[in-house]
Amino acid sequence: MARRTKIIATIGPASDSPAMLESMIEAGMDVARIGLAHGTLDEQIERYHRVRAAAKAVGRTVGILVDLPGPKVRAASFGVDEGVMLMEGTEIRLAPGNTKSTAEVVEVDYDHLLVDIHAGDRLMFGDGAVIVEIHDHGGDHLKGRVAHGGWVQGCPGVHIPSDRLRVTSPTDNDLRLLDTFVGLDVDMVALSFVRSAHDIRRIGTEPHPRGPLVVAKIETRAAVDNLEGIIEASGAIMVARGDLGEEFNIEELPHLQKDIIAKCIAMGRPAITATQMLESMIHAPSPTRAEATDVANAVFDGTSAVMLSAETAIGHSPSLVVATMARIAAKADQRFDYDGWAGNLQHRHVLEVAGLDTKMTDTMTMAAWRAAMDMKANAIICITRSGFTARSIARFRPEAKILAYSADPRTVQQLSMSWGTTPLRSDAHGSFTEMVEWATDDARRLGLVRSGDVAVVLAGSSESAEATDTIRLVRIK
Ligand code: PGA
Ligand code: MN
Repeated sequence: MARRTKIIATIGPASDSPAMLESMIEAGMDVARIGLAHGTLDEQIERYHRVRAAAKAVGRTVGILVDLPGPKVRAASFGVDEGVMLMEGTEIRLAPGNTKSTAEVVEVDYDHLLVDIHAGDRLMFGDGAVIVEIHDHGGDHLKGRVAHGGWVQGCPGVHIPSDRLRVTSPTDNDLRLLDTFVGLDVDMVALSFVRSAHDIRRIGTEPHPRGPLVVAKIETRAAVDNLEGIIEASGAIMVARGDLGEEFNIEELPHLQKDIIAKCIAMGRPAITATQMLESMIHAPSPTRAEATDVANAVFDGTSAVMLSAETAIGHSPSLVVATMARIAAKADQRFDYDGWAGNLQHRHVLEVAGLDTKMTDTMTMAAWRAAMDMKANAIICITRSGFTARSIARFRPEAKILAYSADPRTVQQLSMSWGTTPLRSDAHGSFTEMVEWATDDARRLGLVRSGDVAVVLAGSSESAEATDTIRLVRIK
């Protein structure tokens, strides 16, 4: 069985060369993530064009996800080369600023630092690498003690508890960056540190597929409290474990991951599991046993995609990391409990959604899943304008491959993130019968179905149909 779980890889200095990008695509990268928190805008734009060129060279659909930094607070640079050791037990000062940090005075790029951080707070640097306990105010600085020491490099993130943070997401800077990438026709955009559905709506882009698919990163307590509204307002969700793991006690994290994914899939939105998945491979040629198991368990939790961050952005061998993740995910896909998953999903309120069109499509995909299972179909072919039908059938994790045909090139790109889905461009026009014929012929020509196979085809009965309202069972000629 081919891999069904999608792979998102972050592009950075280690993965910028065309040759590396091409070998990452060949190794299984489905979506390239460009994090806008580091580097200049010009560098990011060049990166964007290089990914497009590499996808074209390899001849594969690769989605591009740009990740807006949001109000992420960072320390001023400790220097990029060797970095600085913050020794356990030493006293340090923290001051607002963005010029330079040293082992004695750490500048934090947050204007309200002296007001919003109180004595007794524990501040984490660099996804938990260093912990500083604040014990006093010193006028123009805070006094702290390094409770847990370690190396800090570049501009590490500083975790300010999100309920204290005054800056909301998206920031003005996010909206400017967004404008640039919407102008470049980006496929997907991730929003950091969202707290409510309102934050998502402030993005203000056209609904997908006309605009980018909006991915809400769940990494604050407020986002967990307002989860359903956020999922409803978003195109997809990321379990952003780096920051989420600092907002909650660490023992909560595995359960948050399971709950967020389950809710997301029930509502027909792709879910991404992110951060530190194969972290040790930044340096090592193989992952730790715990990491390999984490990737497989994310698949068993029902994740649509697994994500690589520093592993591919600054790691030693980005294409090896992608290949390793692809092997682990493909094996886990084989062992996935398909029947159990669909059974559980039926007990969730999958149909309690707004709008008759949505309900109609969701009902038809449930019927299609059932038909595919009973007929032992090889493929479920969706003819879909926005991709909604393909995401809706993917909720059930059917064993049959999902072939999603769309006439809209942006829908095709956006489906790169959807579980188990092969996104395909359709040129078909005309009646339902003509479209079905065109799609089954094309799938056979591409070797995706063979003569004698059974396919379940889902589409609107006419080009003007608002929802998927028709199922046909086809024996491939
Ligand atoms: P980041 O988001 O890498 O942009 O911080 C992911 C996370 O917090 O896990
Ligand atoms: Mn984050």
